[in-house]
Amino acid sequence: DRNMILPRIRQLDEGAVNRIAAGEVVERPASAVKELVENALDARATRVTVDIADGGRTLIRVTDDGHGIDPDDLPMALSRHATSKIDGSDLLNIHSFGFRGEALPSLGAVGRLTITSRAQGSDGAATIHVSGGRIDAPRPAALRQGTVVELRDLFHATPARLKFLKSERSETMAVTDVIRRLAMAEPGVAFALRDISDGGERILFRADAAADMTGRMAAILGRAFTDNAMSIDAERDGFRLTGLAGLPTYSKGNSVSQYLFVNGRPVRDKMLTGALRGAYVDVLARDRHAVAALFVTCDPELVDCNVHPAKTEVRFRDAGIVRGLIVSGLRHALAGAGHRSATTTAE
Ligand code: ADP
Ligand code: MG
Repeated sequence: DRNMILPRIRQLDEGAVNRIAAGEVVERPASAVKELVENALDARATRVTVDIADGGRTLIRVTDDGHGIDPDDLPMALSRHATSKIDGSDLLNIHSFGFRGEALPSLGAVGRLTITSRAQGSDGAATIHVSGGRIDAPRPAALRQGTVVELRDLFHATPARLKFLKSERSETMAVTDVIRRLAMAEPGVAFALRDISDGGERILFRADAAADMTGRMAAILGRAFTDNAMSIDAERDGFRLTGLAGLPTYSKGNSVSQYLFVNGRPVRDKMLTGALRGAYVDVLARDRHAVAALFVTCDPELVDCNVHPAKTEVRFRDAGIVRGLIVSGLRHALAGAGHRSATTTAE
Protein backbone atom coordinates (compact mmCIF):
# COMPACT_ATOMS: atom_id res chain seq x y z
CA ASP A 1 0.00 0.00 0.00
CA ARG A 2 1.55 3.22 -1.26
CA ASN A 3 -0.22 5.43 1.28
CA MET A 4 0.95 3.52 4.30
CA ILE A 5 2.85 5.64 6.78
CA LEU A 6 6.20 4.09 7.52
CA PRO A 7 6.18 3.23 11.22
CA ARG A 8 9.14 4.62 13.11
CA ILE A 9 10.97 2.67 15.78
CA ARG A 10 10.75 4.13 19.29
CA GLN A 11 12.06 3.10 22.66
CA LEU A 12 9.28 2.02 25.04
CA ASP A 13 9.20 4.04 28.24
CA GLU A 14 10.17 2.32 31.50
CA GLY A 15 6.55 2.09 32.66
CA ALA A 16 5.54 0.13 29.57
CA VAL A 17 8.61 -2.09 29.82
CA ASN A 18 7.77 -2.85 33.44
CA ARG A 19 4.15 -3.70 32.64
CA ILE A 20 5.27 -6.06 29.88
CA ALA A 21 7.82 -7.74 32.16
CA ALA A 22 5.20 -7.93 34.90
CA GLY A 23 3.07 -10.01 32.56
CA GLU A 24 5.74 -12.71 32.69
CA VAL A 25 6.75 -12.47 36.33
CA VAL A 26 3.38 -11.80 37.97
CA GLU A 27 0.66 -14.04 36.72
CA ARG A 28 -1.46 -14.07 39.87
CA PRO A 29 -1.20 -13.22 43.58
CA ALA A 30 0.72 -16.44 44.25
CA SER A 31 3.51 -15.37 41.89
CA ALA A 32 3.82 -12.02 43.72
CA VAL A 33 3.96 -13.87 47.05
CA LYS A 34 6.66 -16.16 45.68
CA GLU A 35 8.84 -13.23 44.63
CA LEU A 36 8.40 -11.39 47.93
CA VAL A 37 9.00 -14.41 50.16
CA GLU A 38 12.06 -15.36 48.12
CA ASN A 39 13.38 -11.83 48.65
CA ALA A 40 12.85 -12.24 52.40
CA LEU A 41 14.75 -15.56 52.34
CA ASP A 42 17.56 -14.05 50.27
CA ALA A 43 17.80 -11.38 53.01
CA ARG A 44 18.43 -14.22 55.50
CA ALA A 45 15.18 -13.76 57.35
CA THR A 46 14.47 -16.20 60.18
CA ARG A 47 10.79 -15.31 60.32
CA VAL A 48 8.53 -14.55 57.36
CA THR A 49 4.89 -13.55 57.80
CA VAL A 50 2.52 -13.17 54.88
CA ASP A 51 -0.85 -11.43 55.22
CA ILE A 52 -3.34 -11.53 52.39
CA ALA A 53 -6.83 -10.18 51.81
CA ASP A 54 -9.25 -11.38 49.14
CA GLY A 55 -6.93 -14.13 47.96
CA GLY A 56 -4.11 -11.58 47.62
CA ARG A 57 -6.00 -9.45 45.11
CA THR A 58 -6.50 -6.42 47.36
CA LEU A 59 -3.57 -6.97 49.72
CA ILE A 60 -0.35 -8.96 50.02
CA ARG A 61 1.96 -7.98 52.86
CA VAL A 62 5.23 -9.79 53.53
CA THR A 63 7.06 -8.99 56.76
CA ASP A 64 10.56 -10.31 57.42
CA ASP A 65 13.38 -9.89 59.91
CA GLY A 66 16.13 -10.02 57.31
CA HIS A 67 19.04 -7.66 56.70
CA GLY A 68 16.89 -4.91 55.24
CA ILE A 69 17.64 -2.33 52.56
CA ASP A 70 19.82 0.73 52.94
CA PRO A 71 17.54 3.82 52.75
CA ASP A 72 19.71 5.19 49.93
CA ASP A 73 19.12 1.98 47.96
CA LEU A 74 15.32 2.03 48.16
CA PRO A 75 14.76 3.80 44.81
CA MET A 76 17.29 1.43 43.25
CA ALA A 77 15.32 -1.60 44.52
CA LEU A 78 12.45 -0.38 42.34
CA SER A 79 14.44 0.12 39.19
CA ARG A 80 14.75 -2.54 36.52
CA HIS A 81 17.61 -5.00 36.41
CA ALA A 82 18.96 -3.64 39.68
CA THR A 83 19.98 -6.31 42.17
CA SER A 84 22.28 -6.71 45.16
CA LYS A 85 22.62 -10.46 44.56
CA ILE A 86 24.93 -10.81 41.59
CA ASP A 87 27.30 -8.48 39.82
CA GLY A 88 26.53 -9.91 36.42
CA SER A 89 30.00 -11.34 35.84
CA ASP A 90 29.04 -14.93 36.62
CA LEU A 91 25.53 -15.94 35.60
CA LEU A 92 26.40 -19.60 36.07
CA ASN A 93 27.14 -19.32 39.74
CA ILE A 94 23.95 -18.22 41.47
CA HIS A 95 23.22 -18.98 45.10
CA SER A 96 20.21 -16.76 45.75
CA PHE A 97 16.57 -17.13 44.74
CA GLY A 98 16.61 -13.78 42.97
CA PHE A 99 19.12 -12.29 40.56
CA ARG A 100 17.16 -10.64 37.79
CA GLY A 101 16.14 -7.48 39.62
CA GLU A 102 12.71 -7.64 38.02
CA ALA A 103 10.23 -8.48 40.73
CA LEU A 104 9.87 -5.19 42.59
CA PRO A 105 9.71 -2.92 39.51
CA SER A 106 7.20 -5.33 37.96
CA LEU A 107 5.02 -5.37 41.06
CA GLY A 108 5.21 -1.57 41.21
CA ALA A 109 3.90 -1.46 37.66
CA VAL A 110 0.84 -3.63 38.29
CA GLY A 111 -0.10 -2.71 41.85
CA ARG A 112 0.39 -0.14 44.58
CA LEU A 113 3.65 -1.11 46.21
CA THR A 114 5.08 0.18 49.48
CA ILE A 115 8.44 -0.98 50.83
CA THR A 116 9.44 -0.10 54.37
CA SER A 117 12.81 -1.28 55.54
CA ARG A 118 15.42 -0.85 58.19
CA ALA A 119 18.90 -1.86 57.17
CA GLN A 120 20.92 -3.92 59.60
CA GLY A 121 22.96 -1.61 61.83
CA SER A 122 21.06 1.47 60.74
CA ASP A 123 19.32 3.60 63.35
CA GLY A 124 16.31 4.50 61.25
CA ALA A 125 13.91 3.04 58.72
CA ALA A 126 12.62 4.45 55.45
CA THR A 127 9.63 3.84 53.23
CA ILE A 128 9.06 4.22 49.51
CA HIS A 129 5.86 3.96 47.49
CA VAL A 130 5.27 3.28 43.83
CA SER A 131 1.99 3.10 41.99
CA GLY A 132 1.33 2.94 38.27
CA GLY A 133 5.08 3.13 37.81
CA ARG A 134 5.29 6.51 39.60
CA ILE A 135 7.86 6.39 42.39
CA ASP A 136 7.49 8.77 45.35
CA ALA A 137 10.55 10.07 47.14
CA PRO A 138 11.57 7.87 50.12
CA ARG A 139 10.49 9.12 53.55
CA PRO A 140 11.66 8.26 57.07
CA ALA A 141 9.52 5.61 58.75
CA ALA A 142 9.26 3.61 61.95
CA LEU A 143 10.27 -0.07 61.81
CA ARG A 144 12.24 -2.06 64.34
CA GLN A 145 13.99 -4.41 61.93
CA GLY A 146 13.79 -6.09 58.56
CA THR A 147 11.47 -5.29 55.70
CA VAL A 148 7.74 -4.96 55.11
CA VAL A 149 6.57 -5.07 51.51
CA GLU A 150 2.93 -4.26 50.92
CA LEU A 151 1.25 -4.78 47.57
CA ARG A 152 -2.29 -3.45 47.25
CA ASP A 153 -4.77 -3.78 44.41
CA LEU A 154 -2.76 -6.09 42.20
CA PHE A 155 -3.68 -5.62 38.52
CA HIS A 156 -5.84 -2.55 39.25
CA ALA A 157 -4.30 -0.97 36.16
CA THR A 158 -4.64 -4.07 33.99
CA PRO A 159 -8.33 -5.10 34.12
CA ALA A 160 -7.69 -7.90 31.59
CA ARG A 161 -5.40 -9.64 34.08
CA LEU A 162 -7.84 -9.04 36.90
CA LYS A 163 -10.53 -10.85 34.94
CA PHE A 164 -8.37 -13.94 34.58
CA LEU A 165 -7.97 -14.39 38.31
CA LYS A 166 -9.78 -17.38 39.74
CA SER A 167 -12.01 -17.43 42.81
CA GLU A 168 -10.69 -16.05 46.07
CA ARG A 169 -10.56 -19.62 47.33
CA SER A 170 -8.39 -20.90 44.53
CA GLU A 171 -6.04 -17.87 44.56
CA THR A 172 -5.67 -18.41 48.33
CA MET A 173 -4.86 -22.08 47.73
CA ALA A 174 -2.19 -21.13 45.19
CA VAL A 175 -0.65 -18.67 47.68
CA THR A 176 -0.66 -21.35 50.38
CA ASP A 177 1.00 -23.83 48.05
CA VAL A 178 3.82 -21.40 47.23
CA ILE A 179 4.51 -20.82 50.92
CA ARG A 180 4.33 -24.52 51.79
CA ARG A 181 6.95 -25.33 49.16
CA LEU A 182 9.30 -22.56 50.24
CA ALA A 183 8.81 -23.64 53.85
CA MET A 184 9.89 -27.19 52.90
CA ALA A 185 13.05 -25.79 51.37
CA GLU A 186 13.91 -23.64 54.41
CA PRO A 187 13.25 -25.68 57.57
CA GLY A 188 15.05 -23.22 59.86
CA VAL A 189 12.79 -20.31 58.97
CA ALA A 190 9.45 -19.72 60.71
CA PHE A 191 6.59 -19.06 58.29
CA ALA A 192 3.04 -17.83 58.78
CA LEU A 193 0.27 -17.06 56.33
CA ARG A 194 -2.75 -15.13 57.57
CA ASP A 195 -5.96 -14.12 55.85
CA ILE A 196 -6.88 -10.66 57.08
CA SER A 197 -9.91 -10.06 54.84
CA ASP A 198 -12.64 -7.95 56.50
CA GLY A 199 -10.46 -7.04 59.46
CA GLY A 200 -10.36 -10.65 60.69
CA GLU A 201 -7.22 -12.70 61.17
CA ARG A 202 -7.28 -16.32 60.16
CA ILE A 203 -4.14 -18.48 60.16
CA LEU A 204 -3.99 -20.36 56.86
CA PHE A 205 -0.56 -21.90 57.30
CA ARG A 206 2.04 -21.94 60.00
CA ALA A 207 5.39 -23.63 60.40
CA ASP A 208 7.62 -22.88 63.36
CA ALA A 209 11.36 -23.03 62.88
CA ALA A 210 12.28 -26.73 62.72
CA ALA A 211 15.52 -28.41 63.73
CA ASP A 212 15.80 -30.35 60.49
CA MET A 213 14.14 -31.24 57.20
CA THR A 214 12.29 -34.23 58.66
CA GLY A 215 10.79 -32.09 61.41
CA ARG A 216 9.63 -29.54 58.88
CA MET A 217 8.14 -32.26 56.65
CA ALA A 218 6.26 -33.70 59.63
CA ALA A 219 4.82 -30.24 60.30
CA ILE A 220 3.77 -29.70 56.70
CA LEU A 221 3.04 -33.12 55.22
CA GLY A 222 2.12 -34.82 58.49
CA ARG A 223 3.59 -37.44 60.78
CA ALA A 224 1.82 -40.16 58.83
CA PHE A 225 4.05 -39.33 55.88
CA THR A 226 7.34 -39.03 57.77
CA ASP A 227 6.56 -42.27 59.64
CA ASN A 228 5.95 -44.01 56.31
CA ALA A 229 8.81 -42.54 54.34
CA MET A 230 12.32 -43.62 53.52
CA SER A 231 15.17 -41.26 54.11
CA ILE A 232 17.06 -40.74 50.86
CA ASP A 233 20.71 -39.84 50.48
CA ALA A 234 22.47 -40.74 47.26
CA GLU A 235 25.17 -39.24 45.11
CA ARG A 236 26.38 -39.45 41.55
CA ASP A 237 28.86 -37.42 39.52
CA GLY A 238 28.50 -34.19 41.48
CA PHE A 239 24.76 -34.48 42.06
CA ARG A 240 23.29 -35.32 45.45
CA LEU A 241 19.77 -36.51 46.16
CA THR A 242 18.31 -36.14 49.65
CA GLY A 243 14.84 -36.01 51.16
CA LEU A 244 11.99 -38.31 52.03
CA ALA A 245 10.18 -40.72 49.75
CA GLY A 246 7.00 -42.49 50.82
CA LEU A 247 6.75 -46.23 51.12
CA PRO A 248 4.64 -47.81 48.37
CA THR A 249 2.05 -48.58 51.06
CA TYR A 250 1.64 -44.84 51.57
CA SER A 251 0.85 -43.86 47.97
CA LYS A 252 -1.83 -41.48 46.71
CA GLY A 253 -4.36 -41.36 43.92
CA ASN A 254 -2.76 -38.23 42.42
CA SER A 255 0.67 -36.68 42.12
CA VAL A 256 0.00 -33.41 44.00
CA SER A 257 2.07 -34.63 46.94
CA GLN A 258 5.32 -34.74 45.01
CA TYR A 259 7.62 -31.88 45.94
CA LEU A 260 10.84 -31.38 44.05
CA PHE A 261 13.66 -28.94 44.71
CA VAL A 262 16.82 -28.10 42.87
CA ASN A 263 19.47 -26.29 44.89
CA GLY A 264 16.80 -25.28 47.39
CA ARG A 265 14.46 -23.93 44.74
CA PRO A 266 10.98 -25.45 44.38
CA VAL A 267 10.67 -26.62 40.77
CA ARG A 268 8.17 -28.30 38.49
CA ASP A 269 10.01 -30.45 36.06
CA LYS A 270 8.79 -33.27 33.82
CA MET A 271 12.12 -35.05 33.80
CA LEU A 272 12.26 -35.15 37.61
CA THR A 273 8.66 -36.32 38.04
CA GLY A 274 9.23 -38.87 35.28
CA ALA A 275 12.27 -40.23 37.11
CA LEU A 276 10.27 -40.45 40.33
CA ARG A 277 7.55 -42.42 38.55
CA GLY A 278 10.16 -44.64 36.94
CA ALA A 279 11.70 -45.47 40.31
CA TYR A 280 8.39 -46.77 41.67
CA VAL A 281 7.14 -48.42 38.48
CA ASP A 282 7.62 -51.96 39.80
CA VAL A 283 6.08 -51.35 43.22
CA LEU A 284 3.07 -49.13 42.54
CA ALA A 285 -0.10 -49.75 40.59
CA ARG A 286 -0.42 -47.57 37.49
CA ASP A 287 -2.99 -45.26 39.08
CA ARG A 288 -1.02 -44.73 42.30
CA HIS A 289 1.55 -42.02 42.98
CA ALA A 290 4.39 -41.86 45.46
CA VAL A 291 4.45 -39.09 48.05
CA ALA A 292 7.88 -37.51 48.11
CA ALA A 293 9.89 -34.43 48.94
CA LEU A 294 13.21 -34.66 47.13
CA PHE A 295 16.12 -32.28 46.97
CA VAL A 296 18.67 -32.35 44.18
CA THR A 297 21.76 -30.34 44.97
CA CYS A 298 24.74 -29.69 42.75
CA ASP A 299 27.24 -27.08 41.79
CA PRO A 300 25.15 -24.18 40.40
CA GLU A 301 27.17 -24.46 37.20
CA LEU A 302 25.57 -27.85 36.47
CA VAL A 303 22.05 -26.44 36.27
CA ASP A 304 20.47 -23.44 34.59
CA CYS A 305 17.56 -21.94 36.52
CA ASN A 306 17.39 -18.96 34.17
CA VAL A 307 15.03 -20.70 31.74
CA HIS A 308 11.93 -18.70 32.67
CA PRO A 309 11.40 -15.52 34.73
CA ALA A 310 9.38 -17.40 37.34
CA LYS A 311 12.33 -19.80 37.65
CA THR A 312 10.28 -22.92 38.33
CA GLU A 313 11.78 -24.69 35.33
CA VAL A 314 15.35 -25.85 35.28
CA ARG A 315 17.71 -27.25 32.70
CA PHE A 316 20.43 -29.65 33.76
CA ARG A 317 23.66 -29.81 31.89
CA ASP A 318 23.36 -33.59 32.04
CA ALA A 319 19.76 -34.65 32.68
CA GLY A 320 20.65 -38.32 32.22
CA ILE A 321 22.83 -38.34 35.33
CA VAL A 322 20.09 -36.75 37.44
CA ARG A 323 17.49 -39.15 36.13
CA GLY A 324 19.75 -42.10 36.86
CA LEU A 325 20.51 -40.79 40.34
CA ILE A 326 16.82 -40.50 41.22
CA VAL A 327 15.85 -43.88 39.81
CA SER A 328 18.76 -45.75 41.38
CA GLY A 329 18.70 -43.80 44.65
CA LEU A 330 15.01 -44.47 45.22
CA ARG A 331 15.15 -48.10 44.02
CA HIS A 332 18.00 -48.76 46.38
CA ALA A 333 15.98 -47.34 49.27
CA LEU A 334 12.89 -49.29 48.21
CA ALA A 335 14.91 -52.51 48.08
CA GLY A 336 16.24 -51.77 51.56
CA ALA A 337 12.72 -51.18 52.84
CA GLY A 338 11.77 -54.61 51.52
CA HIS A 339 9.07 -53.25 49.29
CA ARG A 340 10.29 -54.28 45.87
CA SER A 341 7.32 -56.61 45.39
CA ALA A 342 3.98 -55.23 44.21
CA THR A 343 2.18 -53.76 47.17
CA THR A 344 -1.40 -52.87 47.92
CA THR A 345 -2.08 -49.30 48.88
CA ALA A 346 -3.28 -47.56 52.00
CA GLU A 347 -5.58 -44.79 50.77
P1 ADP B 1 16.22 -9.63 42.82
O1 ADP B 1 15.60 -10.42 43.94
O2 ADP B 1 16.27 -10.42 41.56
O3 ADP B 1 17.51 -9.01 43.19
P2 ADP B 1 13.97 -7.82 43.24
O4 ADP B 1 13.30 -6.85 42.32
O5 ADP B 1 13.14 -8.93 43.78
O6 ADP B 1 15.23 -8.41 42.46
O7 ADP B 1 14.61 -7.01 44.44
C1 ADP B 1 15.54 -5.96 44.17
C2 ADP B 1 16.52 -5.77 45.32
O8 ADP B 1 15.81 -5.24 46.46
C3 ADP B 1 17.16 -7.04 45.82
O9 ADP B 1 18.32 -7.37 45.08
C4 ADP B 1 17.49 -6.69 47.27
O10 ADP B 1 18.71 -6.00 47.35
C5 ADP B 1 16.38 -5.74 47.65
N1 ADP B 1 15.31 -6.42 48.43
C6 ADP B 1 14.09 -6.77 47.97
N2 ADP B 1 13.35 -7.34 48.94
C7 ADP B 1 14.12 -7.35 50.05
C8 ADP B 1 13.93 -7.80 51.42
N3 ADP B 1 12.78 -8.38 51.81
N4 ADP B 1 14.95 -7.62 52.28
C9 ADP B 1 16.12 -7.05 51.90
N5 ADP B 1 16.35 -6.60 50.64
C10 ADP B 1 15.38 -6.75 49.72
MG1 MG C 1 13.63 -11.00 44.04
